[in-house]
Amino acid sequence: MPAITAVRGRLVYNSRGSPTIEVDITTDGRHTGRAVAPSGASVGIHETASFPDGGVAASLQILNDNAGRIYGADPGDVGAMHGVIREIDPEPGYPKMGGSLAFALSIAAAESAAKSAGKPLYRLLGEQEPLASALSSASASPASKRYRFPFPLGNILGGGAHAGPGTPDIQEILICATGSDTVQDAIRTNLEVHSELRRVLQESDPGFSGGKGDEGGWAPKLDNEKALQAAARACENLGFTLGREVSLGVDFASSTQWDASRSRYVYDRAGFENDPGEQIEFASDLISRFKLIYAEDAVHEEAFEDMAQIRARFPDVLVTGDDLTVTNAAILEKAARGGSCNAAILKVNQAGGLHDALEFAAAGARNGISLVTSHRSGESTESHISHIGIATGSKMLKVGVVGGERVAKLNELLRIAELRGGDGDGDGDTEHDLIQGMAEL
Ligand code: PEP
Ligand code: MG
Repeated sequence: MPAITAVRGRLVYNSRGSPTIEVDITTDGRHTGRAVAPSGASVGIHETASFPDGGVAASLQILNDNAGRIYGADPGDVGAMHGVIREIDPEPGYPKMGGSLAFALSIAAAESAAKSAGKPLYRLLGEQEPLASALSSASASPASKRYRFPFPLGNILGGGAHAGPGTPDIQEILICATGSDTVQDAIRTNLEVHSELRRVLQESDPGFSGGKGDEGGWAPKLDNEKALQAAARACENLGFTLGREVSLGVDFASSTQWDASRSRYVYDRAGFENDPGEQIEFASDLISRFKLIYAEDAVHEEAFEDMAQIRARFPDVLVTGDDLTVTNAAILEKAARGGSCNAAILKVNQAGGLHDALEFAAAGARNGISLVTSHRSGESTESHISHIGIATGSKMLKVGVVGGERVAKLNELLRIAELRGGDGDGDGDTEHDLIQGMAEL
């Protein structure tokens, strides 16, 4: 059995310039895995808190005090690593160590184990239980042939908590190359739309500075409606038909607008308010008119019944929970029982550690909920989520389009495509020929 022989943590910075934690884990004295915890700007109320009181320094102290418990553990058994983490911090929500340390420890361990076993991280993760059984009973293909590329879903225009005043209230307008047969083509197409959108924005406002939001989407001074129109125009200018070669998506991040004391959604920047019924109509209207394939958090994080109404209206749209489901398996089961969503965001750090996130993925597979593995707005240049997206059978990988910390994830998909010497269509015949083209949307 491989065993952890060294562990070390340090303070580093994320893409927003905020301090975070990095952990190195070495297996058998030779194979080092490294992970940096990301962080969100629009954070769900039921998310795991990133750090205990005392911040990164307090998490590092816990790591140093407990290094002895980590030595000797099997880094390739995500459940066993979870057991070690739980010995250090048994309370739900990791109040002692913080979710960021649980994240960094569990992912650094998995990466060092994958290196030691000489296999790609996605395969090591895809073999973990209960994920492997849940995915193979949900899928028609044999377990060894189930790995597919998720469609990259990228932020082309940012607003809300990710951009400044004057930008749209809605947080993200997203592009997905739904007509692409290969991951290479899907990435290239998203880049073309992102670039054409800049031209469209500059045409309508020569003063547009080219400024971007936290995730690399353009941040123009436009309201929601005009921003969506500009995104649609960029697609059309390239000869694409919405819903065919490419599709748009929106992360409404509606909890940002929700004023619980008045039971209203307040669209400060556009200058209007919606009651809960009006919000359902507002979101439904945008979904229909812009032929959205993807609608995330169209209502606030506790409006399970309102989400169910939207889901019932749009069976072919990925009606997705993020703040609603916070990568929590029990909350996802509740959402599935109430028909609140047919898709859910998987962000490991919302849950804390990798084991929590894989349990969430297994709950998704058992309940027929499509997964969308996602970055955070405050990211590192690492690319573990590209592997996590493949391992969990995610339909989409929400990682942005440009920006070093976003492109790192896309470039990793291109490297993974090379592993079995093909172009993503699954016709290779090597040991690694496990990826069978793109996910089925
Ligand atoms: C999101 O809301 O989906 C997102 C990626 O943003 P953040 O990381 O700020 O939560
Ligand atoms: Mg979101």
